[in-house]
Amino acid sequence: MAIVETEELNPFAVAVEQFDSAAERLNLPQGLRAILREPKRELTVNFPVRRDDGTIQMYRGYRVQHNINRGPAKGGIRFDTRVTLDEVRALAMWMTWKCAVVNIPFGGAKGGVIVDPRTLSARELERLVRRYATEIAGVIGPESDIPAPDVNTNPQIMAWIMDTYSMHHGYSIPAVVTGKPVAIGGSQGRVEATGRGVFIITREACRVLDISMDGAAVAVQGFGNVGSVTAKLLHEHGCKVVGLSDMYGAIYNEHGIDVPAALEQVKRTGRLTGLPDTEAIEGGALLELPVDILVPAALEGQLTHHNAPAVKARLIVEAANGPTTPEADAIFHEHGIAVVPDILANAGGVTVSYFEWVQDLQRFFWNEGEINNRLEHIMVQSFNAVEAKREEQGCDFRTAAYLLAVARVAEATEVRGIYP
Ligand code: GLU
Repeated sequence: MAIVETEELNPFAVAVEQFDSAAERLNLPQGLRAILREPKRELTVNFPVRRDDGTIQMYRGYRVQHNINRGPAKGGIRFDTRVTLDEVRALAMWMTWKCAVVNIPFGGAKGGVIVDPRTLSARELERLVRRYATEIAGVIGPESDIPAPDVNTNPQIMAWIMDTYSMHHGYSIPAVVTGKPVAIGGSQGRVEATGRGVFIITREACRVLDISMDGAAVAVQGFGNVGSVTAKLLHEHGCKVVGLSDMYGAIYNEHGIDVPAALEQVKRTGRLTGLPDTEAIEGGALLELPVDILVPAALEGQLTHHNAPAVKARLIVEAANGPTTPEADAIFHEHGIAVVPDILANAGGVTVSYFEWVQDLQRFFWNEGEINNRLEHIMVQSFNAVEAKREEQGCDFRTAAYLLAVARVAEATEVRGIYP
């Protein structure tokens, strides 16, 4: 197992702690703090799915909307046995700040189902998705809350959600979900968008930190949609990817892993281990490799006070949501290790989701070049704004990103006022 199992760690407590420290620095009034600390809506659904053998199994799912003051709620849906309500709450809050830091007109939401999709047949998975979509149909919609892929969900699953929601209304409503296949209103470039955004932010961070990407040693934890694209783009741009991991294990080659070969092998066998010219290492050891750049692209709570003192990277780019605990953050700050936070680093996905939603609403589609150019523009502009704030405040990247994001959401919340 390449994911580091940590002691009981509540992601929502981490998210609230991060918010509180930004609110304190911004000197936000107590009332605003109280509003922004809580998710606005939380839906828990328990629903049956008929297995192929005729038996009935119950599943639990969630959809949480943290804040909708800057626009409709936006955020992915995760399928994982480790999903909890507090995890979904944290991920929803992080989506609010993420959309605000890149200044796209969305609030934050997240969904999850407690399930290991690999234990289901394709038909069972489709039934589960359609039933979950039906259970949350009352709170999602193109003007209210727009889901997208996250851990263990993909364009096919988004297609089933779009179809289910549309069947209930009697006509196609593509803008209810993003990350769909292009054939039904998905956007060019959406599949690669999160990894592409991580790459752009890594490049910009290297620029301001004076790290040469040419030959820079990189380790990437996680080889899903985000980690694999990030590793591929970093490799293509001259970095030496020395360590990779997936849920089955981690691999290492100090002279650099052949990333295209790794992608090819994963496509064929579903796992990284056994890749020629690499040695197997412990998942935990991957995070402590002697690298210039570390990209956690798996799950939250991976960098903690236990392993942070052993991290040797100069730059950590958070491709995953919430990979670093506040204690680990403090250790990195002390050690002079720069951490570019999730809400900026992985915002490329939701940015192209925004483009997809706009294209669906206008029924007018852009080509991949236009998408990638617009993504590049938003990511660089957002990075520069965070960097300027970091300079101005003499703080770290996370604090700077939170100061910008929380101030935008607070202003929207304040100016709209409290109803009634
Ligand atoms: N699940 C992705 C994230 O955590 C994308 C969300 C979206 O596109 O709405 O940012």
